[in-house]
Amino acid sequence: MGRRRISILGVTGSIGASTVSVIEARGLDRFDVVAVSGNSNIASLAERARRLGAEVAVTADPARLAELRAALTGSGVEATAGPAALIEAAGRPADWMMSAIVGAAGLAPTLAAARAGTTVALANKECLVAAGDLFLAEMARSGAQLLPVDSEHNALFQLTHGTRAVPIERLILTASGGPFRNFTRAEMARVTVAQAVAHPNWSMGTRISIDSATMFNKALEMIEAWHLFPIAPEQIEVLVHPQSIVHAMIGYSDGSILAHLGPPDMRVAIGHALAWPQRCELPVDRLDFARLSRLEFQAPDPERFPALDLARAAMARGGVAPCVMNAAREVALDAFIGGDVGFLDMAPLVGEAMARLDGLPAARDLDDIYMADAQARRVGRELVKRYAA
Ligand code: NAD
Ligand code: MG
Repeated sequence: MGRRRISILGVTGSIGASTVSVIEARGLDRFDVVAVSGNSNIASLAERARRLGAEVAVTADPARLAELRAALTGSGVEATAGPAALIEAAGRPADWMMSAIVGAAGLAPTLAAARAGTTVALANKECLVAAGDLFLAEMARSGAQLLPVDSEHNALFQLTHGTRAVPIERLILTASGGPFRNFTRAEMARVTVAQAVAHPNWSMGTRISIDSATMFNKALEMIEAWHLFPIAPEQIEVLVHPQSIVHAMIGYSDGSILAHLGPPDMRVAIGHALAWPQRCELPVDRLDFARLSRLEFQAPDPERFPALDLARAAMARGGVAPCVMNAAREVALDAFIGGDVGFLDMAPLVGEAMARLDGLPAARDLDDIYMADAQARRVGRELVKRYAA
């Protein structure tokens, strides 16, 4: 087999690092690396681009081009910058692309790869949350294969083998419960960013770690699952499972439940997406059932984790409501990280933005999505000022 041409968007992030680790474990000589991208961490972007021998390295920040060029001097790696350059690089011919930019910023470049017919390994759940139907329609039009990398959805993909043939009765997404699983609301009101980032089981980027603490991450994942699998919102269940060993389960109408188990290491899902439809050997811990003392499950508490109900409301409303929810969440998250609002302000702020923009019409095209996203960010920033006051 010839060398596979691959790209990694968000190579400087946590998923990006795990992807590089999987690729190196597989052997760099199997791959030609086309494009890698990052944002503000130019040193890491240049280091990874050199290590992988990438054709082009892109920073999303146009002001950092000179810095990137300097960091890549003598490497033979082309340097480009800015949103248009990112889309151009993502659309270069490749067999496989890891989509691991964080936030709705990942949508346009991922679409560029999809339109080029590249197999998309999708870590960026915001693509599906913000633009689900339109995003999937673009994938279908180009015939590009979508491989879910979010661990729960990768687990479900493995369980269904990607077929939609047998009707699913229920779909269960597990959640660790995050660092505040046993906190009271009064305790949650006072938590700091550092506490919210300290996830008990998974090592992830700052933003998704905080989203795990609020369970906004699971809220996004419910919407992601709704788009990826033939299932109605009310058939999607969330279960708190502190050990993070069972990643997801599927229930069929005969009462059978299939579960996917594995170590809490994203390289399992990334490696699966890279080797699919085969499997490859991965340097991850093996589960030792004799040493796993127990697997616990409990229902999530809607009082302390209101994000889950926001996802249900967004799915019931349909149209651009999930896009609005996501954009407002990104603004609320920035405000929490910046110290402008408290931990427990995030969900009500998002709920209020959704209520204010409830009248927005459904999106006919991606421009409508970008417009709804921009409006939700504007409303979100107004609300931040009020919550901060
Ligand atoms: P991260 O914060 O560690 O990395 C994010 C990457 O996106 C970096 O390369 C950064 O440079 C880039 N980026 C940030 N802002 C950008 C912008 N405006 N334009 C272009 N690029 C930008 O995040 P992560 O934890 O690796 O997560 C990446 C995505 O994968 C997210 O959508 C997350 O929800 C999803 N995901 C992550 C994990 C995990 O274990 N980390 C698990 C499942 C899903
Ligand atoms: Mg996940």
